[in-house]
Amino acid sequence: MGDSVTAKVNQEARARTVRNHSATHLMHKALREVLGDHVQQKGSEVTADRTRFDFAHNAPVTDAQITEIERRVNAEILANAPTTARVMPIEAAKATGAMMLFGEKYGEEVRVLSIGTSTELCGGTHVKATGDIGLFKSWPRAAWPLACAASKPSQGRAL
Ligand SMILES: [Zn+2]
Repeated sequence: MGDSVTAKVNQEARARTVRNHSATHLMHKALREVLGDHVQQKGSEVTADRTRFDFAHNAPVTDAQITEIERRVNAEILANAPTTARVMPIEAAKATGAMMLFGEKYGEEVRVLSIGTSTELCGGTHVKATGDIGLFKSWPRAAWPLACAASKPSQGRAL
């Protein structure tokens, strides 16, 4: 009895983590669209409760920009597009325009993940369709780490 309850809780936590990780892809794309192409992932932490995405930006992010990022991510969620993953040679992946992390070492074969309108290399586990994320909400700007006033992270979560 205790074991099955624990298993259920773990499954739920895992499902929440998958939703938050999936939302991170959409957040990455929205950040680049709203703030600029210079936004690149410098770090990330995904848990069952939230996702954090660290990036460098040359100005404070405004409340209006946060609202626009949320709107774009939620529009992707509402579109409920199916997620696809394809394994292909790295050169073919580059030709798809998939986002790659600068300085990251990739193998000969990579996994190209398309979620919503985002295409990125990722070997992780994702929702089957964007609608499974449910809803994306950023923390209010005041709750962002202080460092973000000059440069850093965007945080949000799938609810
Ligand atoms: Zn992923």
